[in-house]
Amino acid sequence: MEEEKTIISIRGLRHSYQEGDEMKEVLHSVDMDFYKGEIVIIMGPSGSGKSTLLKVMGAQLTIQDGDVRIGDFSLKGASPRQLMEIRRHLGFIFQSHHLINSISVLQNVQLPLAFDPTATAKTSKERALKALATVGIESQAFKKPSRLSGGQRQRVAIARALIRKPAIVLADEPTASLDEKSGREVVEIIREMAKTLGVTVVLVTHDNRILDIADRIVKLVDGRIRE
Ligand code: ADP
Ligand code: MG
Repeated sequence: MEEEKTIISIRGLRHSYQEGDEMKEVLHSVDMDFYKGEIVIIMGPSGSGKSTLLKVMGAQLTIQDGDVRIGDFSLKGASPRQLMEIRRHLGFIFQSHHLINSISVLQNVQLPLAFDPTATAKTSKERALKALATVGIESQAFKKPSRLSGGQRQRVAIARALIRKPAIVLADEPTASLDEKSGREVVEIIREMAKTLGVTVVLVTHDNRILDIADRIVKLVDGRIRE
């Protein structure tokens, strides 16, 4: 059997939000491991803590208690600069695409390269076109996002998430705003890219129509993992 290499390791992770004068704990000591190249779906009802878990893993929320390790790097106690560095190795896909409507599809996909010193205007355009080709919408490159369908816009978001060749993609309800057919296409593209590029995908959803794309399904209920 092929050796499984841990790429993300979560230990004793707790997270609380301030609610009035009190702290409300929404993640209760979560332990989880993710292996290189696998697609894991985290399922759970609304309010179970899925987005919070993804944000902590994505270095978008500070670790309060416990730890998340990405590769050899511990998010606990990392400086803002180190967190920014780690985010460069992560791709994010959200429910709403967060595309900018005043610029072209191509420019949206190029955005993550804006602060990348190794990307010139020419190479960044080439990479963006290639990423768009990967998700099958190269022909839409020069349109404004508002002229695309919901499914096409989500593909743009996938291309944008991939442009920096992340080792890990974190997807938060990527099919939530799509009809069944577009949702299907989007998750199949996510699966395809994960398998061809060796990307680890952690996808949270409560859409049980897409569970078959996962290598592994984990349940999160009331802030606790139930395998
Ligand atoms: P899910 O993504 O599974 O729907 P969330 O992680 O968004 O769950 O939310 C888990 C719980 O934390 C919910 O009860 C939600 O109301 C609460 N919550 C989420 N974000 C915040 C926040 N920024 N401030 C206070 N409470 C929050
Ligand atoms: Mg959520």
